[in-house]
Amino acid sequence: MTSYTTSPDVASALANFSLPEKLGFGLVLAPVMYSVDYADGQWGRGELLPYGPIEIAPGARALHYGEFVFEGMKAYRAGAALPNLFRPLDNCRRLAWSAQRLAMPVVPEDLFLEGVNAVAGAMADFVPTGGGRSLYLRPFLFGTEPGYLLRNSNTFRFMVIANPVEAYASGPMRVAIERRDVRAAVGGVGVAKASANYAASLRASNQSLSRGYTIAMWLDGAEHRYIQELSGMNVFAVVNGELHTPELDGAILPGITRDSLITLARAMGKTVVERPMPIDDLLAQIQNGECSEVFACGTAAIVAPIAVLGDSDGREFMPQNVDVVARELRESLLAIQERRSPDTFGWTRDVPAPAAE
Ligand SMILES: *Cc1c(COP(=O)(O)O)cnc(C)c1O
Repeated sequence: MTSYTTSPDVASALANFSLPEKLGFGLVLAPVMYSVDYADGQWGRGELLPYGPIEIAPGARALHYGEFVFEGMKAYRAGAALPNLFRPLDNCRRLAWSAQRLAMPVVPEDLFLEGVNAVAGAMADFVPTGGGRSLYLRPFLFGTEPGYLLRNSNTFRFMVIANPVEAYASGPMRVAIERRDVRAAVGGVGVAKASANYAASLRASNQSLSRGYTIAMWLDGAEHRYIQELSGMNVFAVVNGELHTPELDGAILPGITRDSLITLARAMGKTVVERPMPIDDLLAQIQNGECSEVFACGTAAIVAPIAVLGDSDGREFMPQNVDVVARELRESLLAIQERRSPDTFGWTRDVPAPAAE
């Protein structure tokens, strides 16, 4: 049931594209994109276009009021001609949840899949394979109506852009505990994948970078006591041999990788505990050895080891293990994503062949 149109310029955009040697994460842009507009209460017809600049009214509410939500997901190509997507319906549901939190229209499942399948299908020959390489897809939804009146737009656009990527590998991360700024508070938009949350995080992110850290760790907005997550990644700790992760508190972004790891770890026979995690307890447990390892997870990095947690007073805490349990989980999850081990959870989904022109 393909109903999108393909611009005549897509073929030449793809013909002129080749995968460079060095992909990095987000350095290389797919030469195609998908776009569909919403007006008068309904979605129009989608289009597959060459990647390029778009026009937007300078007064559009997405620019002024942060009316912008997005997703991040990956397509892997494992031997087959066409790639497969990892848990795309979960991304679709989360985009709907994010849109509802910002009172934006929901992108229906068939339209969401049309967009990601159109881009992943067109890019099939350019999905890099092996070693965690993949096509990163970035679906996003934003309000296009100009105006200062504090209400939603009446017009919106849903787009999908993509990047062939390497496995995001920063090496073991140095995490800076953020004791002052707050990323998201309960009742706010932290549970939505809203660009506004990233705006709130940038000052602390910049400061942690300039202090020699990789990324900031967020604490809860009310007491500044409980671990929430990192900027864009959820957190796990190995405590007395069990996996502990902050329970979803109404401000933490419910990561699909987080959910996958909980399911996978339990299937591997591990105990997983979701609970409020006071940062000072965790630091004490790192010091006394009860906490042996800390790591983070998200679509980009899958599972990323943490070497150091640095506090605002300059003290540093180093768990005794780096990338032991994290590596085991990363390799198990990646094997499912790359279809090297059986997908007993039904997480991967084939991208259908693009419609003939
Ligand atoms: C996207 C995101 C994550 C990770 O979610 P995944 O679905 O695992 O990619 C974690 N935290 C924040 C704030 C995010 O935006």
